[in-house]
Amino acid sequence: MNISVIGMGYVGLATAAVFADLGNDVIGADVDAAKIAALRAGEPPIFEPGLKEMLRRNLDEGRISFTTDTAEAVRASEVVFIAVGTPANTDGDTDLSQVEAAARNIARGLTDYKIVVNKSTVPVGTGDLVARMIRDHAPPDARFDVCANPEFLREGSALEDTLAPDRIVIGVSDHQVAERLLELYRPLDRPIIVTDVATAEMIKYASNAFLATKISFINAIADICERVGADVTTVAHGMGADRRIGHDFLQPGLGYGGSCFPKDVQSLIATAAAHGCDFALLRAAQEINDSRVGRFIERMTEVMGTLDGKTIGVLGLSFKPNTDDLREAKAVELIRALLGRKAAVRAYDPVAMEKCAALLPQVDYAHSAYEAARGCDALVIATEWNEFKLLNLARLKQLMAEPVIFDGRNTFAPEKVRALGFRYYGVGRR
Ligand code: NAD
Repeated sequence: MNISVIGMGYVGLATAAVFADLGNDVIGADVDAAKIAALRAGEPPIFEPGLKEMLRRNLDEGRISFTTDTAEAVRASEVVFIAVGTPANTDGDTDLSQVEAAARNIARGLTDYKIVVNKSTVPVGTGDLVARMIRDHAPPDARFDVCANPEFLREGSALEDTLAPDRIVIGVSDHQVAERLLELYRPLDRPIIVTDVATAEMIKYASNAFLATKISFINAIADICERVGADVTTVAHGMGADRRIGHDFLQPGLGYGGSCFPKDVQSLIATAAAHGCDFALLRAAQEINDSRVGRFIERMTEVMGTLDGKTIGVLGLSFKPNTDDLREAKAVELIRALLGRKAAVRAYDPVAMEKCAALLPQVDYAHSAYEAARGCDALVIATEWNEFKLLNLARLKQLMAEPVIFDGRNTFAPEKVRALGFRYYGVGRR
């Protein structure tokens, strides 16, 4: 099938690469000329495991190409995916300007019938908005349908998730249109839910809001555990063993970040409010999340007396492991708070340091976790990269000025760390 994908970010690029790998002819379009040049040269502008290899394979075999001209990409395609960003705007609503710009450019490329599929996370009703915008800018006889196909991939395992999603959701206004999309997805052999556009759009928000609430729930439990002397990791284990609850998203810590949960939670609260519903539960989940870093800093201050003049090592910068994405990363929020308390920060991350240096030039970036720990009065684990789990803690202790660990992701076993002579503070555990 001839496909184009508009927006070569985390979602668009993973989608384009996987569809090409499945044998389709794919054109990736983006307004960012530097991104397109890098992609043509086989260099993904983002870090995602396996992406570079998949990109190069499909470039070599001529199944994928890239352009800055969206209309040209659309003209050559039967199915057009929109995968542009949908950030929050300042009042918490969703900023749809990238989607609108993509819709206008699609309209310019409508020479014959096209299926336009919205993969971006968009508030209910955006499918209709896109259809209206295309109609307003396309030739009068243009024929097209607009569908919703929300994306559930996770950064860090984007290719795996695109190849084997738990479910594929397709929102269409008429089932005949769904047939072509079903054909496209059939090789994946995954469960497919076909519904109307509004329901598909809502499935995405409801899913992300539920997962975010699960994280905030266990974080609230963690705070109580700290006060009553219970261990939240065992509590979470005991809860998760119940199949109705499950273990996923019950890891207490600094809270959720990233380019999706914070904005999607905010957007659903705004959609609810616009329709006269007060989503108090979700507002509470958001409040709990917003208070995590402040609470963590308070705990550090209680233990250390003051942070003024102290040197703090921070391990992990990206919003979660296996990605270089720093959007709404809790580590960045934490470092800003530490700098605000006049601490000096030394940091290390396996892939995100270059991007972080542009955001936080005041930080001293180290080449390894051990270098980041050197001379520090305390070490914080902010993102639980695998390589931190097996650090040589005895070596780490020798390098530090004071053997103090604040484990924002409950990465280590407290008794093991304490046995080595560290003072150890996790989240919600003794
Ligand atoms: P991103 O910011 O990484 O990428 C968006 C890309 O779109 C950028 O490269 C940008 O240059 C490009 N772009 C902007 N306007 C354009 C236009 N008019 N024409 C062509 N290209 C344009 O975004 P992302 O993280 O890939 O997210 C894309 C969408 O998918 C969002 O709605 C997001 O909420 C959703 N989503 C993201 C994830 C994730 O893990 N990142 C997961 C599921 C869903």
